[in-house]
Amino acid sequence: MHTGATYRPLDTPIEYLKGVGPARAELLQKELHIFRFRDLLQHYPFRYVDRTRFYQVKDITPDSQLIQLKGVVDQFKVIGERRRKRLTARFTDSSGSMELVWFQGIKWIQKAIAPGQAYVIFGKPNFYKGQVNMPHPEVEPLSQANSQTRAALQPIYTSTEKLKTRGLDSKGLYKLTQALFQRLSPTDLPEMLPDTLRQQYKLVSRYEALRMIHLPKSGKEVRAAQRRLKFEELFLLQLRVVKMKLRRHELHKGVIMESLEQYFNPFYHHHLGFDLTNAQKRVLKEIRRDLLSGNQMNRLLQGDVGSGKTIVAVMSMLMAIDNGYQAALMAPTEILAQQHYQGIAEQLAPLGLRVALLTGSVKGAERKQLFADLANGDIHLLIGTHALIEEKVQYHDLGLVVIDEQHRFGVAQRAKLWRKGTTHPPHVLVMTATPIPRTLAMTVFGDLDVSVIDELPPGRKPIATHHLRDSDRLRIFGFMKEQIAEGRQVYVVYPLIQESEKLDLKDLQDGYESVTRAFPLPDYAVSIVHGKMTPEDKDYEMQRFVRGETQIMVATTVIEVGVNVPNASVMVIENAERFGLAQLHQLRGRVGRGADQSFCLLVTKDKLSNDGRKRIRTMCETNDGFRIAQVDMELRGPGEMEGTRQSGRLNLIMADLTTDGPVLEEARKSAHQLLDNDPHLQAPEHAGLRQYLLAQKQRAGFDWSRVL
Ligand code: ADP
Ligand code: MG
Repeated sequence: MHTGATYRPLDTPIEYLKGVGPARAELLQKELHIFRFRDLLQHYPFRYVDRTRFYQVKDITPDSQLIQLKGVVDQFKVIGERRRKRLTARFTDSSGSMELVWFQGIKWIQKAIAPGQAYVIFGKPNFYKGQVNMPHPEVEPLSQANSQTRAALQPIYTSTEKLKTRGLDSKGLYKLTQALFQRLSPTDLPEMLPDTLRQQYKLVSRYEALRMIHLPKSGKEVRAAQRRLKFEELFLLQLRVVKMKLRRHELHKGVIMESLEQYFNPFYHHHLGFDLTNAQKRVLKEIRRDLLSGNQMNRLLQGDVGSGKTIVAVMSMLMAIDNGYQAALMAPTEILAQQHYQGIAEQLAPLGLRVALLTGSVKGAERKQLFADLANGDIHLLIGTHALIEEKVQYHDLGLVVIDEQHRFGVAQRAKLWRKGTTHPPHVLVMTATPIPRTLAMTVFGDLDVSVIDELPPGRKPIATHHLRDSDRLRIFGFMKEQIAEGRQVYVVYPLIQESEKLDLKDLQDGYESVTRAFPLPDYAVSIVHGKMTPEDKDYEMQRFVRGETQIMVATTVIEVGVNVPNASVMVIENAERFGLAQLHQLRGRVGRGADQSFCLLVTKDKLSNDGRKRIRTMCETNDGFRIAQVDMELRGPGEMEGTRQSGRLNLIMADLTTDGPVLEEARKSAHQLLDNDPHLQAPEHAGLRQYLLAQKQRAGFDWSRVL
């Protein structure tokens, strides 16, 4: 480890920068986490203002941002008392006039501005009762503002109220950055990207990029700087993620599963009953390659609801069983485990394999027998809930585990599962029906191998989705009656959001009552399921619906995950504006599983927010989960997406996963190439990168030694 003997200017505490000092330093630390010079360098401007352009009063609109104008200031007036005291003045240019307002520094401003003289003012206009004004403009004499010393593009920095009172508004921060660049030379900011990469992708140097982002001479410079800094950020992240993946492959050897003879091939050729889609075939090939690689498989399978993930799971498990290993399939709920069990046991019946179900409700002697059969290898395939990975459950030789609906399982549970293997950790396939955009997957799950089923089995009728209002109630009930008369079943779903659970449950109860009034016994039977019911009651109601004894299921989102009732063809979502896109899409996926045309009715109140309208419109326009996920990311931002929330890897400063997909692809590819050729960064052209990463490790305590 370095002892810090080498002086690194960037590590200098911010206090020692000209214009800072102890008091402002403390504020900078508290408010913006700027401790050292390097932190200030990374406090990038979020916008630039073109100070070569002058606006006119007549051009101002409610959308106007920071602008500058040329004109005279006069008619100073002090109005109000004490806290409401303010100074106003009239600003006039050749096109008209507006009011300027100051709430602070009144005396000083009155002294500094000479009425009738030409000034340049700069600020954000404001509309008040149809009149335009500008609070707290910057005011400079015209001659000074025209001088050559000021950059044409002025960077705008985030600041806070507290910092502003200490003179560190955007302009104050800009001055600090200027002072910082006075002290820095290119050697203080050594390059870490290999030359070949910089040439290949036409990236400016690190020093240039940082100078251009803070003190740009032109829009072109800003763009060059942004491109370089985005690439750098994504490349360094991908380097880490890809390295983790390579390292995992190195560390965790996996069982090689070669044979397909006894079960896989006969099943594929004689018992499958339909042709696999190309996407399913491709994914099975990817899995097969993993099982032959000698490394432990750790693969994430993404596929929309109904895309046929289960059969891929089943056939992967057959690969393991063919090689003398056991396989397990873990589902998030009892109902789902049961459904999987029934479906898979039936599908595999011709193969003469022993398939078993383990859930919390398997008890007593039955449970004991099951444990014994599992331990001596009589059971080939075990299906169940998280009971599968409990301490007591001993496998004879567990070779492969499939986890359905990944987001319900925690990291700790996955670790438990790894220990279930006898000689090697079992191969793991995690399946999720919450598609996430490729850019997010590459970042959050970049150290896993990811497969995608992006094609539905043929012959599916797309679900028809319609937007309806509360006032359409009669039409909705009428439509439900028609569908039920044709023998179909209907879901009616209400949102349940934690904070207002009581209120939501009342919504649900009211809804249930109005549905039972419109659909009375004995002609109709209605089920109700919500999270406050005991698992037994829930299961009982669910089963009645599954068996077709009830025609309508009124429920909260508990039905969201995986339950399959092919005869249900209508999904009515109440208060649809309160659901996120991912959830709406999941819910809609509950129908459309049979041969009949299915429908999804999104019922909202009359007035919608912009985001709400966009969500509903997107749902009506497309059934494609990946497209929906992309819109979801655009609306909510990458950090708020289902299944990826709280990933530290999403704390990006410059890059934006919503819009920087192409740069990310380049960065990912480059990271892969670099580590393939030089896994330990020992080549001379990678010395800069190696040094940079080592220094970063020292600073952050991040364990790069594992990486290098
Ligand atoms: P999900 O990906 O949501 O788990 P499932 O695996 O439950 O989807 O598949 C949905 C339905 O589609 C099942 O009834 C399954 O048998 C059927 N299916 C899967 N693959 C195909 C295919 N290639 N051709 C026709 N039907 C298929
Ligand atoms: Mg499924």
